[in-house]
Amino acid sequence: MSISENVRYYLDKLAAGNCFGEKVTLVAATKTRTPQEINEAIAAGISDIGENKVQEFCGKYDLVQGGRRHFIGHLQTNKVRYLIGKTDLIQSLDRDELAGELAKRSVRAGIVTDVLIEVNIGSELTKSGYSLADAFAAYERARATQGLRVRGFMAMLPLSDDRALLGGLADEMRALYERAKAQDENICHLSMGMSGDWELCLAHGANMIRLGTALFGAREYPAAHNA
Ligand SMILES: *Cc1c(COP(=O)(O)O)cnc(C)c1O
Repeated sequence: MSISENVRYYLDKLAAGNCFGEKVTLVAATKTRTPQEINEAIAAGISDIGENKVQEFCGKYDLVQGGRRHFIGHLQTNKVRYLIGKTDLIQSLDRDELAGELAKRSVRAGIVTDVLIEVNIGSELTKSGYSLADAFAAYERARATQGLRVRGFMAMLPLSDDRALLGGLADEMRALYERAKAQDENICHLSMGMSGDWELCLAHGANMIRLGTALFGAREYPAAHNA
């Protein structure tokens, strides 16, 4: 199927909302995709796009027409300056040092940067993010920081066939989201779900998903890229 057909297929499937009937925002994960491919997705109805490398985010910035711009990857502190004022949502606030740098540069630019708190819900050594135990306190610190506005939480579930385990982890993310939302009207996003697990995530309360492969097909990385 073409990119446009995939986009229409998924937007149609998501129109019913999540298990709570909440509207689901589809973010197209556009790493390795060309501006032409991304523009095709936007023309077909994609409203939000996410890059996970600063260089790709900036390189495509002016070539992509429209779309709310998300940053969804690990963000090095020394690259924050390239993103300030260009993002609609930074989904990967994963440590206090990054919060400090985002806040400082946002205040200096006279803007407020919208962020999600990233949670390493599977306690995986290979993933970044606050532990579930630390996430609420991290949210409260970021919320109290001038220059930042926390809009919710982001997580990547571990790779596993154990649906009970994954469902339990997703439920813990939803509980964290609800706890913050109960006291904070800015909280509106629970970003959880990729091509392999989005249905499970919507069944457990995610209201934002990030799809790459499902929309664009399998990624091909240049041979030199072995990360
Ligand atoms: C690449 C990526 C996705 C999308 O992954 P797919 O499995 O291709 O759907 C989602 N979230 C993040 C943070 C990513 O880097």
